[in-house]
Amino acid sequence: MNAVSDSSLAQHAAQIEAGDRRALARAITLIESTRADHRRQAEALIEQLLPRSGKSLRIGISGPPGVGKSTFIEAFGQYAIGQGKRLAVLAVDPSSRLSGGSILGDKTRMEVLSRAEAAFIRPSPAGLTLGGVARRTREALLVCEAAGFDLIIVETVGVGQSETAVAEMVDLFLLLLLPGAGDDLQGIKRGIMELADILVINKDDGDLSTAAARSAADVANALGLMQPRHAGWRPEVLRCSALKQTGIDAVWMRVEAFATALKQSGGFDAQRRDQAKAWLWHELSDSLIEALKADPHVAAQLGALETKVGAGKIAPGTAARSLLAGFLHRT
Ligand code: GDP
Repeated sequence: MNAVSDSSLAQHAAQIEAGDRRALARAITLIESTRADHRRQAEALIEQLLPRSGKSLRIGISGPPGVGKSTFIEAFGQYAIGQGKRLAVLAVDPSSRLSGGSILGDKTRMEVLSRAEAAFIRPSPAGLTLGGVARRTREALLVCEAAGFDLIIVETVGVGQSETAVAEMVDLFLLLLLPGAGDDLQGIKRGIMELADILVINKDDGDLSTAAARSAADVANALGLMQPRHAGWRPEVLRCSALKQTGIDAVWMRVEAFATALKQSGGFDAQRRDQAKAWLWHELSDSLIEALKADPHVAAQLGALETKVGAGKIAPGTAARSLLAGFLHRT
């Protein structure tokens, strides 16, 4: 890297650390880009900012479409700002919000927060795969931390694999549920429930209050049978109304209690270390697959091999090993 780009990189990093939102937005755009030169710049920037990162509380928020995630983040974020905190919100929805997310555009979501000085909201980039979104979000998270945000909220629609990806990058996973779910738990898979540190029944207001109380009891029962994920913390069920902004203070208190408990037990740092290692492995396998796909010899053989595998003429394992052997031999 030459001296000019070195100094402009240092300048960009300094602007981010000084809390310049446009510099931050520019960095995330760089991170989202798939261009090779942008990728190199993004990596250099992250390298520079890494020592400044790590100080935020990272919260993943998930739940079925329509549960009130944006409304909740709007209320919770305002409460946090009232407590003197600054927060960034990143969304993790591969292929935009087409598959059942909010029908409102991202512009109209979180209206108050998006105007707040102390908040930074970054919607999901369109057209990235889950792997791409996960990488971009992990990196965007580090950059937001370097910009000094106290809280980073990573939001995802609670229907698929993205929860696992989010749980691997946050300190606390908060799952929002609807009142009156019964025991099928509204399409939320048991595996996703098991990721949650705090479960919140939203829409605890008006006619829905009775159902909310019943759901809270059902969920508490289900939790009693599960293995806690962390030493020092048993998952809890709370109720709130994001719309009426009631019960948000209690959620905030439990979020703080969680962070304190995990820091005391040592689980907080241990989880971050494990996540960093898992990230390394994700990067390794993603980079390997990219290199494989970009290899002209692999590309030349792939079509024929796929056909043979499809016709049952060769086992997938054998085909993979022969492709890989050739690739490793050449590199
Ligand atoms: P998302 O798809 O999970 O992001 O859900 P939204 O935040 O877009 O909310 C979906 C719908 O539920 C909207 O019409 C909200 O006004 C409504 N909603 C959200 N929170 C509450 C709540 O606490 N109580 C009630 N009654 N409605 C709510």
